[in-house]
Amino acid sequence: MVKFNFNPGDKIEITTKKEALSGLFMPSKENTFILKLDNGYNLGIDKKNIKKVKLLSKYKEKKPKSSKVKQNSKLPTITILHTGGTIASKVDYETGGVIARFSPEELLEMFPELKKIVNLKSRLVSNMWSEDLNFQHYNLLAKEVEKEVKAGADGVIITHGTDTLHYTSSALAFILENLKIPVILVGSQRSSDRGSSDAALNLICACNFIANSKFQDVAICMHSSMEDESCYILPATKSRKLHSSRRDAFKAINTDPIALVDKQGKIEYSQKVKQKKGKLNLRLFKEVKVGILKAHPNMLSKEVSFYKDYDGLILEGTGLGHFPINKTDSSTTENEKVFTELKKLSKKIPVVMTSQCIFGRINMNVYTTGRKLQEIGVLGNGLDMTTETAFIKLAWLLSNFKKQDVFELISENISNEINERIKDDFLE
Ligand code: GLU
Repeated sequence: MVKFNFNPGDKIEITTKKEALSGLFMPSKENTFILKLDNGYNLGIDKKNIKKVKLLSKYKEKKPKSSKVKQNSKLPTITILHTGGTIASKVDYETGGVIARFSPEELLEMFPELKKIVNLKSRLVSNMWSEDLNFQHYNLLAKEVEKEVKAGADGVIITHGTDTLHYTSSALAFILENLKIPVILVGSQRSSDRGSSDAALNLICACNFIANSKFQDVAICMHSSMEDESCYILPATKSRKLHSSRRDAFKAINTDPIALVDKQGKIEYSQKVKQKKGKLNLRLFKEVKVGILKAHPNMLSKEVSFYKDYDGLILEGTGLGHFPINKTDSSTTENEKVFTELKKLSKKIPVVMTSQCIFGRINMNVYTTGRKLQEIGVLGNGLDMTTETAFIKLAWLLSNFKKQDVFELISENISNEINERIKDDFLE
């Protein structure tokens, strides 16, 4: 039996029945041995197939070279708040662990270009995959931003996993009332230590934007194309991840990006930057129960009644905002039950329609299905919110306002989440 007493980060060579492979040993579970290959990918090898393992070199922790970053009084000061995700995964690769240790020194060592644009401070808020975040984390992040505003920061960058980055940007846009500095969320699709990583450009563009703009709001900064040239500054409540791996995965929905920023710091605005009045005020999330139910063929009424104890529900309908509620032949009796359950629910809690189409607006006046849904109290007609933003907005409204008022407020534009007019190119 081969012995596996290695530490994460040790360089080893494994010989299987078929081949010899070398790479870094990663924390491995039970019967699988995980090896990080030189190209950055993890390979799982069944322990049964391993014939020999040789230690090539022991893991040595790299210490950041400089201990203190010199501040340049002419440059703006930015704090980077780390939450985890792929952008922080360089550390995973070296140690096999998941403890991000991004100090300003380490960041500047990794991305020395940043030093010319801003003075950087950085701290770890959490270290997790973004799919694990919840309302508590949004509150925590908002409080951290508030601390930075009080300390006089010129801007904040939040590094974040990309999967739910657009939920967090929406949540912060609602929580941070009268925010007067730029708070820019930055993720990366490829980890910072891979040649193809998008992390450096996303961070450089975010710093360039904060340093050269009067923007006072929350936004997302990610690649504008597959090229490594420029990034979009995308609206916090009207953006979405639309691709699972491309660097330009994020797009503005039913609106234009706020701006295009390049490596050199050139900014082209496509939306006006508004200036805010008043004092920063935090309207935080409470532990409300809100769900998202997606329409699909063969829907069962119990999928709807499941939400009877919830405080609010988003219906991601088909097309203009439809659900399977019509009994048209002997095989569609369940649809009638779906309708009955939706009627019961809409009387009790706010039930809001969005569209699986992503682009476009809800219009429940066109077809009888939409009209019937409106009659029973389903909300959302005429709105162009993404499902994700509608979900965050509903939970935030229920956390901060009386339930009766939420039925009205869901249709009011609070944080640029509703576009009164969608540009012509989105209509046809
Ligand atoms: N699923 C992880 C997350 O969203 C990794 C993906 C990423 O960081 O882009 O945090």
